[in-house]
Amino acid sequence: MNTKDFSNDWKWQIANRIHTQEQLAEHITLSEKERAAFEGEIPLSFAVTPYYTTLLNSSALRKTVIPTDAENHVGTGELADPLGEEDHRATPHLIHTYPDKVLFLATTFCSTYCRYCTRSRIVGKPLTFDVSTFEETFQYIEQHTEIRDVLLSGGDPLTMTDSVLDELLSRIRSIPHVKMVRIGSKVPVVLPMRITDELCSLLRKHRVWLSLHFIHADELTEETQQACRKLADHGIGMVSQTVLLKGINDNTPALIDLFYGLLEINVKPYYLLQCDPVHGSRHFRTSVEKGIELIQSLHGSICGLAVPQYVIDAPGGGGKVPILGKEQIRRDGDDVVFLNYLGKEYRYPDPLI
Ligand SMILES: *Cc1c(COP(=O)(O)O)cnc(C)c1O
Repeated sequence: MNTKDFSNDWKWQIANRIHTQEQLAEHITLSEKERAAFEGEIPLSFAVTPYYTTLLNSSALRKTVIPTDAENHVGTGELADPLGEEDHRATPHLIHTYPDKVLFLATTFCSTYCRYCTRSRIVGKPLTFDVSTFEETFQYIEQHTEIRDVLLSGGDPLTMTDSVLDELLSRIRSIPHVKMVRIGSKVPVVLPMRITDELCSLLRKHRVWLSLHFIHADELTEETQQACRKLADHGIGMVSQTVLLKGINDNTPALIDLFYGLLEINVKPYYLLQCDPVHGSRHFRTSVEKGIELIQSLHGSICGLAVPQYVIDAPGGGGKVPILGKEQIRRDGDDVVFLNYLGKEYRYPDPLI
């Protein structure tokens, strides 16, 4: 890429996002299959930062952001809202599934859209939220004194400006029973130039934890490593949630490379998530049996800090269920059946072929 066409300013990266086939073709050579996908209807939002396109010679990363025809196929058991979030929506911005923690959807915007996104029904859609509509949500959290943990997500909250984030975090921090504030973000991976000293100070001021989304060691570029080191230098706690993806990271060496690489930049591997059965995700999903084999290949054999918890987010809103071994699951036809933290039975669609 011509470097004069590339700016390290994060707002430039967002303003110049690649969101058409023509723009993408200026950065990478598209295969025939990729071009064909653009000819049809693309059901999920598409955008990639110019920065992240420089990583797309990695075949692993490429599949996670470039549309394919497979997205149009809705497989058995796949849902638009696999986690049943709409049934737990307490306010337009708030999902209240668990007793003492809530998910605050602060924006629908991401700088780069993942093709397997569990919230693809909302992200990139023109339901743009702004701080003026948050008041009802703040009041709900205030009235529910059992809430101690607020997880800001979306969309990607770190695409919001410093002043908007400051206002939002100040308001949440003014609620005395809220002890823990997290932000879920892929920004250090897809838009590392967003991690400025000013942003780090702001996150530090509000004592925010970051829950990052890494999927592959190819994402650990110099820029991303620097961004995470800067966050660590400012005292920001960081964890990573990794989605287990077929043909991308579903082998032991790929997972070890990623998890060790994360520890080197102060990011604790937190969850290895079984891919949610969202519409058009069949080609990304591994079997649960495979997930169990992979996590068992790590337990005990590598540094314990590098091993995340393997979880299935129970379809329908049962919450995240840590899976340690095969004795915890039972197969019933195309479904894998297991119990959540309340002892209630849930099913994950896991066709054998
Ligand atoms: C994942 C999630 C949380 C946070 O869960 P942790 O296991 O504490 O990371 C909160 N609310 C919802 C709806 C979630 O899906």
